[in-house]
Amino acid sequence: MIMTSQGRKCLYWTLTAYLCLQIISFGVVHAQEQGDDVRFDYGDGPNGPAHWGDLNVNWTKCKTGKYQSPMRITPDIMVTASKLGDLDAEYSSEPVAANISINVGYAVEVKVSPNSGLLKINGVRYRPQQFHFHLGSEHKILGHSFPMELHLVHTSEEDPNVRAVIAWLFVKGEDSPFLAQFDGKLPKPDSYPRIFSLPSITLPKLEESYARYQGSLTTPPCSEGVTWTVMLWNFPTISERQIQMFKAAMPKENVRPSMPSHGRRFRIHADS
Ligand SMILES: [Zn+2]
Repeated sequence: MIMTSQGRKCLYWTLTAYLCLQIISFGVVHAQEQGDDVRFDYGDGPNGPAHWGDLNVNWTKCKTGKYQSPMRITPDIMVTASKLGDLDAEYSSEPVAANISINVGYAVEVKVSPNSGLLKINGVRYRPQQFHFHLGSEHKILGHSFPMELHLVHTSEEDPNVRAVIAWLFVKGEDSPFLAQFDGKLPKPDSYPRIFSLPSITLPKLEESYARYQGSLTTPPCSEGVTWTVMLWNFPTISERQIQMFKAAMPKENVRPSMPSHGRRFRIHADS
């Protein structure tokens, strides 16, 4: 093939533009993979839970911490604790503003206004920040796994690094009215934009019977100092349809295996 000098120039610039685009897109992908939120997974491979503590210098607590969550809940550590008293928490009875963000197929996070509730534990005032879903429960009661667990993360008014999480365990059954608020609103994995506004939502229902223990975040950096409250009464239901709806949005596994209790207790407040 004989090519004119103009043709050669044209081919040269086309190739250059193509290579430039390749380099730019590689850079974007590479930068995303360097982010803390995509460097770990839940598999048996090198980025799985057994290795989280080695993947990043800031994640060593995942390996060395003695207050890690989800704590393994066995009969010998379950105690009734009358001192706990009724749960001192209140959420707005009105629907609250929320937006949703998705994170590479294993986490759907819903951000809520801190003014939508107040949780008090041992004199510390916590405000809700976000909730998210785990498909399959992270906390297993006496080895029993639930199809979904919801975590509502609160931070202290004084110090955003001091956290309290309330967990709800869902049992298989009827459609959950709470989860029905997300019908048709869960973005596909890896879809853009990553933040979507939602119509106002009603927060999950608080119960009086609960268990309390000291733990950590269940994802890297596995920070400790997290006060856990696990709802133990009127378990909400989730239907098969709703499980499938969440699986479509979060196809990747997102359940951290149980961590040793190291002398901790699962203290239960049963409403009398
Ligand atoms: Zn969680």
